[in-house]
Amino acid sequence: MTSQAARDRLVARLSDKGVTSEAVLQAVANTPRHLFVDEALASRAYEDTALPIGLGQTISQPYIVAHMTELLLNSSPRLDKVLEVGTGSGYQAAVLSMVCDRVFSLERIEVLLRLARRRFHQLGMHNIFTRYTDGQQGWIAQAPFDGIILTAACPGIPDELLQQLGDGARLIAPLNADGIETMGLSGPLSGKLGSGGQYLVSYTRHGDKFDSEILDAVSFVPLLDGLS
Ligand code: SAH
Repeated sequence: MTSQAARDRLVARLSDKGVTSEAVLQAVANTPRHLFVDEALASRAYEDTALPIGLGQTISQPYIVAHMTELLLNSSPRLDKVLEVGTGSGYQAAVLSMVCDRVFSLERIEVLLRLARRRFHQLGMHNIFTRYTDGQQGWIAQAPFDGIILTAACPGIPDELLQQLGDGARLIAPLNADGIETMGLSGPLSGKLGSGGQYLVSYTRHGDKFDSEILDAVSFVPLLDGLS
């Protein structure tokens, strides 16, 4: 149940659901998701569902990981430097590490970060760099990034993160419905947003301006302040 065949079936399902990037599908096919969850859940690792990873957090659903990675790539086959806020299990970072030269990932829960680092080390993923910190400040010393991804739902996109986007680069994040109003976002979905819901949004930088878009309805754990 943790075999390559199970992983290939998952990839076929993601492709059916609309993931088209070959690079992303290959990355999912090559990432052993069963090593990113507790052994007791390993047999469910290739189901297309989010799973608990302890401390109230979850490893994201594979479809969402693939979809967000595809959105971040924005038709490029590969990116150089990418920032992730919310390392969690490390699975999203691992998938990113196969389509990006370097992944910088930030996590506020030390226990989770320690486990994720161990997985990266065991799997020889030497292009993932992590920090134990509140990720809302980003990683200024490594900016600008060619893409930024948030894997926890926020009430608004921190300006520090937008400022760390390179020109032409994209930020993908789940935003609370209230935050969408506060940030003044509009799109075909605005007006139809359920209050209390969350939506994926994208910001693309053009010089000092940002093009923003509301994408799909999603469900993420919340972005929290400070360290744990
Ligand atoms: N990308 C992860 C998803 C984990 S869930 C994976 O593939 O498994 C979201 C993660 O965001 C949690 O681990 C949570 O602790 C973390 N998080 C929440 N707020 C944060 C913040 N302000 N800074 C850094 N990490 C944060």
